[in-house]
Amino acid sequence: MGRLLEVENLTVSFRTDEGLITPVQGVSFGVDAGRTLGIVGESGSGKSVSTKAVMRLLPVSARIGDQSCIAFTDRDGARIDVHALRPGARALRRLRGGEIGMIFQEPMASFSPVYTIGNQIMETIRLHKGLRGAAARDLAVEMLTKVGISNPAARVDQYPHELSGGMRQRAMIALALSAGPRLLIADEPTTALDVTIQAQVLDLMAGLQRDLGMAMIFITHDLGVIAQVADEVAVMYLGTIVEQGPVRQLLKTPAHPYTQGLIAAIPRLDRIDNRLTPVPGEIPSPSARPSGCPFRSRCAQAILGVCDRTPPPLTRLGGGQSVRCHLHDRARAVA
Ligand code: SF4
Repeated sequence: MGRLLEVENLTVSFRTDEGLITPVQGVSFGVDAGRTLGIVGESGSGKSVSTKAVMRLLPVSARIGDQSCIAFTDRDGARIDVHALRPGARALRRLRGGEIGMIFQEPMASFSPVYTIGNQIMETIRLHKGLRGAAARDLAVEMLTKVGISNPAARVDQYPHELSGGMRQRAMIALALSAGPRLLIADEPTTALDVTIQAQVLDLMAGLQRDLGMAMIFITHDLGVIAQVADEVAVMYLGTIVEQGPVRQLLKTPAHPYTQGLIAAIPRLDRIDNRLTPVPGEIPSPSARPSGCPFRSRCAQAILGVCDRTPPPLTRLGGGQSVRCHLHDRARAVA
């Protein structure tokens, strides 16, 4: 299984009225063909900005750092330097939609309200697969069938507003998958849905991923969802990845106090009487990033004189797990 996407040292800054802010700082992650990477963090952690950088969907005021590298291996085996692609370049259009699909929390971000679902899916099929007319329509109906939409031959002619929230979400998945992408980026795709529909959509996505052999990056604030869908997980806080590793290992032996807090906040049926312990406090703005460790303003284990002065280095813990926290910094323990 080869590496499909490799992001190295990604830094994203925005010029604002209040000066330069850097919501993503030195982030590295990757995903292998057919695997799922979960990126978890609160809103403001930089998870969506990071993946929008991969799709080159950031606003013009955004600047990606010179040392950042975003490399994608296309279906012909060629390595594409995504950061170097010109806006509007053919290779970028092929990458978006064709090689990498994206779905969002709000399906109306993907659909235009003035065209039918079918027209929009057929347009993607025409662009990326070169099919037209009846062949494109047949494939659109097939995609709607795949995502479990009832009566797809009739639904294909409906407008987005005529579908329920759960059905719109399914139609958006059909739209994203209709070009046969090798990587699907799903940005909080189930957050707006009620719990039953959420479980159905998660099941559907896991099934489609298995059937199509597609890789996925699943972005969410909910570590419970990550546990269901991901192979690997990256925990983001204030623009950096604070912990990363195989999902089972990380959930069993979380090393970072923030990850430990997120796990403690997952509701569990076997501990129904226990109070949930959310991480206290709020994530600071990227323009007010604390010195030293970004999590120190909320960390009950912060080491005075260390965590407020020095950003924690990356420590590899074995088994593919790594953490940025002075509690695990072996160099500090030795010194
Ligand atoms: Fe807490 Fe210090 Fe570890 Fe940051 S480096 S998470 S402040 S113990």
